[in-house]
Amino acid sequence: MARYRGPVCRLCRREGMKLFLKGERCYGDKCAIEKRNFAPGQHGKSKRPKKLIGYGLQLREKQKARRIYGLLEQQFRNTFEKAAQMKGVTGDNLLSLLERRLDSVIYRMGLATSRAQARQLVRHGHIQVNGKKTNIPSYTVKPADTVEVRESSRNNPVVLAAREATAHMTKPNWIDVDLESLKGTATGMPRRDELVQIPMNEQLIVELYSK
Ligand code: SF4
Repeated sequence: MARYRGPVCRLCRREGMKLFLKGERCYGDKCAIEKRNFAPGQHGKSKRPKKLIGYGLQLREKQKARRIYGLLEQQFRNTFEKAAQMKGVTGDNLLSLLERRLDSVIYRMGLATSRAQARQLVRHGHIQVNGKKTNIPSYTVKPADTVEVRESSRNNPVVLAAREATAHMTKPNWIDVDLESLKGTATGMPRRDELVQIPMNEQLIVELYSK
């Protein structure tokens, strides 16, 4: 599946905030936002940040969300359309679908240091869901699903190093995580009020796509 292959720190600089796309580096002083917190490009440093309103604000919010979850425009749009067809509040549904992507779940469980790394683990066949190998990063995790590292990958150095490096991260309330056995079981659905760490105003995205 297609994905963005350009420099990722540039994306954070464009949004003017840390999006945590690079794993451990994001927590150190090598983070580009710590060193160069201005827009990328030739005139990035001299340009005054624009005060965004209306469409510009909605567009930036959508781009930010897309970048956090590592999706291309069409993939994000498809997720939004799925959210709009579900019962309930579209913005909450959108966030829930994004959080329940298998790559995002692996990252949140602490088995990868970034969503990009989690996606690679899934694509390379190291993950199973309900006992079956699953190599689709967009798979939507449902309540009672068990997500785990496959038996043959239990000693994978990437997974073991990530488990160590992400020990400080708060684990999601809706997944019962057992890091010893590299396994987690979804006990429910992610709730918006439990996802306060996501710097995203999903209502602006709904307004953008509803035009
Ligand atoms: Fe963003 Fe991480 Fe790069 Fe910092 S190190 S700019 S948080 S991707």
